[in-house]
Amino acid sequence: MEKIIYLDNAATTRTAPEVLDAMIPYFTEKYGNPSTVYSIGSQNKDVITKQREIIAEALGAQSNEIYFTAGGSESDNWVLKATADAYAGKGNHIITTKIEHHAILHSCEYLEKKGIEVTYVGVDENGVVDLEELKAAIRPTTILISVMFANNEIGTIQPIREIGEIAHEHGILFHTDAVQAFGQVPINVDEYHIDMLSASGHKFNGPKGIGFAYIRKGVKIRSFIHGGAQERKRRAGTENVPGIVGIGTAAARAMRTMKERTDKEIELRDYLIERVMNEIPYTKLNGHREKRLPNNANFCFRFVEGESLLIMLDMKGICGSSGSACTSGSLDPSHVLLAIGLPHEIAHGSLRLTLGEDTTKEDIDYVVDCLKKIVADLRAMSPLYEDFVRKQNR
Ligand SMILES: *Cc1c(COP(=O)(O)O)cnc(C)c1O
Repeated sequence: MEKIIYLDNAATTRTAPEVLDAMIPYFTEKYGNPSTVYSIGSQNKDVITKQREIIAEALGAQSNEIYFTAGGSESDNWVLKATADAYAGKGNHIITTKIEHHAILHSCEYLEKKGIEVTYVGVDENGVVDLEELKAAIRPTTILISVMFANNEIGTIQPIREIGEIAHEHGILFHTDAVQAFGQVPINVDEYHIDMLSASGHKFNGPKGIGFAYIRKGVKIRSFIHGGAQERKRRAGTENVPGIVGIGTAAARAMRTMKERTDKEIELRDYLIERVMNEIPYTKLNGHREKRLPNNANFCFRFVEGESLLIMLDMKGICGSSGSACTSGSLDPSHVLLAIGLPHEIAHGSLRLTLGEDTTKEDIDYVVDCLKKIVADLRAMSPLYEDFVRKQNR
């Protein structure tokens, strides 16, 4: 097949060659266990500390507040479950939103079965959390507010500083799932009043299977994986040294390239949105027009089903994603699109395109040209569309 145009960087990103190069020696020569006495092992302790410092610096945190995990899902699970456990004496209520990643939502559902009460705050039509509803949800028993920094489907960036302020005014801990935001927007944990934060290496050109949790000093946190004394006795298991070197290198790189990379992505994203909205009728842009991730575009095409669109794009070498996941033969529309108020039939026709650092204007032009034709072809086969056109012409 011809060139692949990869526009699914919210799902995962390519590991940068610089990152891979930095990792390789830790598989081949420097493979020692950091907890040993001999130098090829114990040297790796300093290597890990160095990576922790790089990540802490990126967030304006202290290095002993960074804990390496196996990724975003683990960090989210850990923070929610361990906070519910450690603060059980204070209360049993957690506030989150309707548009979180499933790593948060399903952890909350699990906690609800254990007697934790969870309030799922709604969002407006752009996917922005309703701050009044959030404030009204606070109870004396609220121990944690968890709101994602930016949404993985529609790209909307939340008013994190305001939410952090609200949490701290009420003496409530604040966690943010920053898996999509880290490396794309500047984050400072003090400025934004963040107590805990989740991130994942493979979402910012690092390797898969490594992530971190930022946990502010003083927050009571229980260990999630029991065993050895690694990660300040909070997360046992021989350190994933190559992964840690990978995520540290990727974080340093993401910080170094952020301005230039995201300026370029914003320009291309806006060009993509403009062309699609101007050239394909009956299309809606999902998510906030400005307060969105630099690389995210998400559309609904009326009378078009998301899965068919993805298959036809794949035949053109284009990788995108749809909010609708095909589960057990029935199509479930995305919980995020339903939360922003889209009716089921429209929520089915969504397409998420997430740009990467290598995306070019030629790529965007090719994608829009293909998309125009595919949407027109799919509509031509749609009885609903035929019906709609007939009514319009009457
Ligand atoms: C990808 C993602 C996760 C899960 O991260 P993994 O490292 O794949 O476990 C969690 N939250 C958000 C917002 C994500 O985009």
